[in-house]
Amino acid sequence: MVEIYENYEVKKHSTFKIGGKVKKVAFPETIEELISLISTNEYHHVIGNCSNILFSSNDINKKIIFTEKINGYFINGCSVIVSCGTKGPIVASECAKKNLSGFEFLIGFPGSFGGMIYMNASAHNQAIADTFVCANLYNQNNKTIIHLNKEEMHFKYRNSIAQENGYIVLDAQFELKKGETEQIQEIMKRNVEFRKTRQPSLTYPNAGSIFKNPENDSAGRLLDLCELKGTVEGGAMVFQNHANFIVNKDNATSTDVLTLMYKMYSKVREKYRIELIPEIKYIGNERTEEYKLWKIMTENTQKAKK
Ligand SMILES: Cc1cc2nc3c(=O)[nH]c(=O)nc-3n(C[C@H](O)[C@H](O)[C@H](O)COP(=O)(O)OP(=O)(O)OC[C@H]3O[C@@H](n4cnc5c(N)ncnc54)[C@H](O)[C@@H]3O)c2cc1C
Repeated sequence: MVEIYENYEVKKHSTFKIGGKVKKVAFPETIEELISLISTNEYHHVIGNCSNILFSSNDINKKIIFTEKINGYFINGCSVIVSCGTKGPIVASECAKKNLSGFEFLIGFPGSFGGMIYMNASAHNQAIADTFVCANLYNQNNKTIIHLNKEEMHFKYRNSIAQENGYIVLDAQFELKKGETEQIQEIMKRNVEFRKTRQPSLTYPNAGSIFKNPENDSAGRLLDLCELKGTVEGGAMVFQNHANFIVNKDNATSTDVLTLMYKMYSKVREKYRIELIPEIKYIGNERTEEYKLWKIMTENTQKAKK
């Protein structure tokens, strides 16, 4: 049964704890329900666990599908099948208990498999693409389900064919490797420790890295050299321990975050002539002041796509 709400407050879903009311939202519970909603062409976005999204604090005149209720996974030997809304850390813990190695990196961040495949999420020298075998996706252009293998997914740094072509990830299969429980647990522990010391946990609401790393460099390094750590804009602040994170310190609005992002972007551009590209996604209304800031920062990506 699909739950549908109008004028729905999305703040509570976002790891940034920012967001106004969305015109209409739907929570399908099965892949069949998801497909029947997308095929109406009524909805503008399909989103997972909102751990990489900045929603506008203003009311958002859009229709959104949340996949969080489409969660399920099946482990058979080394093969793992997941539905799009399933959260990474849950599956990673279960795989560790079964001595399966390959998902140790997923313990540290709250993405759903749909979002992680779309973004080709990675950390600690592991990436979604490494263990990926195949996925079923929905092509909204011709309203068909397509089955793509790893090569056909065109995985790149924070990118995949799902992102390039607007395909919706329905479910996916991965092949992990047999490992030693103790070693897997040890790697996971190390990953969690690393994050505790270098990155904000979700007690400081955030959406992960703000900008993508430029080729052969790190956005965090460049932002740090611009002495941006601790810079505040309204309720938003550049995290003290890592300059590529913005934390919602005190009821930040989307305008606070975008203004701060623009400051960070401009400083790096001025000092190093490098135009950082946002890693997070923004969902809001067009033709607003904050959208103009977003547009400037994403113009290069748009140009690069053409
Ligand atoms: C504390 C913290 C740490 C993080 N660390 C990392 C890290 O180390 N490495 C890393 O890569 N990321 C990291 N992230 C960012 C984030 O968790 C990942 O980008 C993750 O892949 C997003 O998954 P999600 O389900 O939350 O996607 P969402 O934020 O819901 O959506 C992100 C994008 O994916 C699209 N999408 C979601 N589901 C689907 C679907 N089923 N089909 C098609 N498109 C879909 C959305 O439309 C949107 O454009 C971190 C985030 C936080 C908050």
